[in-house]
Amino acid sequence: MRLEQDGEDLVRVAVSLGPRSYEILIGGGLVARAGRAVAGLGEGIRAAIVVDETVAGFHLERLKASLDAVGVAATPIIVPPGEQTKSMAMLERVTDAILAARLERGDAVVALGGGVVGDLAGFAAGIVRRGMALVQMPTTLLAQVDSSVGGKTGINTRQGKNLLGVFHQPRLVLADTNVLDTLSPREFRAGYAEVVKYGLIDRPVFFEWLENNRAEIFSGGAARTHAIAESCRAKAEVVARDEEEKGDRALLNLGHTFGHALEAATGYDSRRLVHGEGVAIGMVLAHQFSARMNLASPDDARRVEAHLRQAGLPTALADIDGGLPGPDTLMDFIAQDKKVRRGQLTFILTHGIGEAFVARDVPASEVLSFLKEKSPS
Ligand code: NAD
Repeated sequence: MRLEQDGEDLVRVAVSLGPRSYEILIGGGLVARAGRAVAGLGEGIRAAIVVDETVAGFHLERLKASLDAVGVAATPIIVPPGEQTKSMAMLERVTDAILAARLERGDAVVALGGGVVGDLAGFAAGIVRRGMALVQMPTTLLAQVDSSVGGKTGINTRQGKNLLGVFHQPRLVLADTNVLDTLSPREFRAGYAEVVKYGLIDRPVFFEWLENNRAEIFSGGAARTHAIAESCRAKAEVVARDEEEKGDRALLNLGHTFGHALEAATGYDSRRLVHGEGVAIGMVLAHQFSARMNLASPDDARRVEAHLRQAGLPTALADIDGGLPGPDTLMDFIAQDKKVRRGQLTFILTHGIGEAFVARDVPASEVLSFLKEKSPS
C-alpha cells in the first residue's frame, strides 16, 4: 500500500506471522494520511475510532478528516483517560457502541491512543462478531514501541491487571512520531525505558547508539524515528518467534517483575510511579541482581543506571516518593506476579548488556536478601 507523501521519512517494519502478518508504518504526519491506509483494508470499509478524551482533543479531528477524505465513515467512541478505563464497564460501552454503529466483521476498529486504549479497543475488536479488523494508531512512545505490536489485548479485573483478554493481531499499525510532541515529558521518558529495554535484551549496539543519541531522540526527527523503528523490529522478531508467549517472548519482561511489584506497592498510583518508571528501576535491579549472582559485571549495571538516570528516569527504590513497604512485602508482590515454585522464581536476568536470558530457578531467598540491601533504611 502507498500513502500520499509516502517518502523517505516513512519506515516500514514487517511483523511476519503467516496469514496474520502486518506492517508497522512509522513516521511524521501519519494521522493526517491514515485514510488511504485504512481504506486499503477492504472495499467499502467503515470504522470505529476508540480514543480517550485527552488524545481526542489533540488528534481526533485530523484523523476524522483523513478518513472522510477517502469516504471511510467513522464513528468516534470516546472514553476517559487512565488505567481505570481498562475495565469491564468500558469494554461493554465500547462493544455496544461498535454494534450500535452497525459495524460488521470486515469493518475496522481503530485504536487511537496509548496502551490503555490499544488494549481495550484491541480486546473489543477481538471479540465483537468473533473478530473485527484492528488498526493500532499508538500515540504514546510506550504504545509505539511495545503495546501496539504483538496482538496482546485486555482489561483489568478486581483480581489484577490484564487478566481478561485475547491475542488479536492488528491488520496495520500506524505510528505517527509527531503525535509524541503533545505527550507529557514524563510519559515520553517512561516509554523511553521500554526502548532501552530492547537494547538490554539482545541489541548491545542499539544500546550504545541510544547512549550517544538520547538528546536527539527526545527532541524528535530522524533519531526518534530510528529508535522507534529499531524497537519495533526487536519486538516484531520476538513476536514472530513466539506469538503467544510460550517461550522467549518472556524476555520482553526484563525489569518487569521488579517493576510490577513496585507498581503494586505504590497502589498503581500514577502520581507516584508510572509503568515505564517501574520498568526503569526494575531493569537496574535486574542488572544489579545479576551482578550479585556473579552472572554479569557490576560495570554493566552501573552503565544501565547512568543512562536511565541521564534520561531523567528513576533508577532506585529510594527514587520513589512517599516511601515503600518493606522488603518482605515487596517479595510478596513479586511472588504474586510470578509464581513461586518450591522457593524458586522465574526472572529475566542477564550476562551483560544485550545478553538477557530467562532464569527459571532463581532462589526466592536470594531475591529477598538483595531487596533488603537495596531498600532505603
Ligand atoms: P496510557 O494509554 O494511559 O497513556 C498515558 C497518558 O497519556 C494518558 O493520560 C493519555 O490520555 C495520554 N496521551 C496518550 N497519547 C497522548 C498524546 N499523543 N498526547 C497527549 N497525551 C497523550 O498509557 P500507556 O503508557 O501508553 O499504556 C499503558 C498501558 O499499556 C497499560 O495498561 C499496560 O498494561 C499496557 N501495555 C500493554 C502491552 C501489550 O502488549 N498489550 C504492553 C505494554 C503495556
